[in-house]
Amino acid sequence: MTVLDRIRTPGCDCDSAGVAPALASVPEAVTAALALARPVTGSEVVPLAAARGRVLARDVTARADMPRFDNAGMDGYALRAADLAEGAPLPLAGTCAAGEAAADLPPGAAMRIYTGAVLPRGADAVVMQEHARAGARTVEILTPPAPGANIRRRGEDRHAGQRVLRAGTRIDARAIAICAGAGAGEVRVHRRPRVALLLTGDEIVPAGQALPGGAIWDVNTPMLTGLAQEAGGEVVAVRQVPDDPAALRAALAEAAGAADMVITSGGVSVGDRDHLKPALQAAGGRIAVSGVAIKPGKPVTVGELDGAVVLALPGNPVSAFVTWQVLGRPVAARLGGSGAAQPPRRHVRPAEALRHKPGRCEFRPARLLGYDHTGVERVAAQGGTHSGRLDPLMQADGLVLIPGDRAEVPAGDLLEFLPF
Ligand code: AMP
Ligand code: MG
Repeated sequence: MTVLDRIRTPGCDCDSAGVAPALASVPEAVTAALALARPVTGSEVVPLAAARGRVLARDVTARADMPRFDNAGMDGYALRAADLAEGAPLPLAGTCAAGEAAADLPPGAAMRIYTGAVLPRGADAVVMQEHARAGARTVEILTPPAPGANIRRRGEDRHAGQRVLRAGTRIDARAIAICAGAGAGEVRVHRRPRVALLLTGDEIVPAGQALPGGAIWDVNTPMLTGLAQEAGGEVVAVRQVPDDPAALRAALAEAAGAADMVITSGGVSVGDRDHLKPALQAAGGRIAVSGVAIKPGKPVTVGELDGAVVLALPGNPVSAFVTWQVLGRPVAARLGGSGAAQPPRRHVRPAEALRHKPGRCEFRPARLLGYDHTGVERVAAQGGTHSGRLDPLMQADGLVLIPGDRAEVPAGDLLEFLPF
């Protein structure tokens, strides 16, 4: 039996019969949302220094052999291995330093050489300096090298023209290093997906401002701006819209015209003040997913308007965060041309039994505790998901997925984990 065998379904069980039948399952919702996300067309060339976080639109190929020439892998002495047959010290015939053009190694001699220096013509080994004793004019080799020792050969890593990175790769510092090493000082990247944010809720005011009456500080604008940017998006518009159907319809139409993805916050439940879905339809949009069997974030809705993906998140900040992780992040990645739309999930074991109300599949903040004796990571996820409380997110490393049909998960059972 493998570790994987113990998970009874590859998904979350919220699609099994009888579980929250009116709602889409999480896998259905993800599939439907991704189906709406067509990668942006259009690309631009940016200098390498400005490329972090962008997605490659073309493969990057090596502009030269890597290494470009045979060179010393260590500080030491370049020589011909056969000249050591008699065991006598070799005369020193000069120095090869990094950056200098290739020298000629005179017959029967050795040359002092430094890491990265071009191997002198005629040499077939570099003896590390710890294995040699140098005099004023000669060097005695204490440990004879194998032919080819400590030489980095031309083209040993890559040949000119070989691919070093694939299109669709999200550029991080490692990818930048690879591009630079391959001679690419600039790269062609996809245009960033344009994201428009619409915030509903007549009660919200920007953080830091005075709070009149029943007002609360707006958490979602800064949070969703950060999440969209982390996912590679360019936030082109942020607008607070009154809880009014006509205003919302107009704002949706305007946002969809300017963006590849419209993220809305709040007003997506079924209360009298929740105008999002009718407004989206009135604006000519189509709803693909209307509610998901997920906790928190059940009302989350996905649709399309004027070629833009519309992701309508619940106003509750924890719900908005979780539904962004599950639905928004892969959509943004796909829009941005990224090869990997979904962050890889892995298996973990809860350190203590977890209780859960059956019905929807729960994504609960969980803290990694290290590995158990079977090599699987253990998590602490006792807290339950309180939609109002943000602190558990800060202490968590990701979300653990509790299947919809489970009332209790014993300690040590296998669960899926979605890392932040
Ligand atoms: P709604 O989805 O509009 O019904 O909002 C659900 C809850 O989230 C309500 O308590 C709202 O006051 C709260 N809420 C909505 N938008 C925000 C926001 N931008 N920042 C903080 N809380 C919010
Ligand atoms: Mg509201």
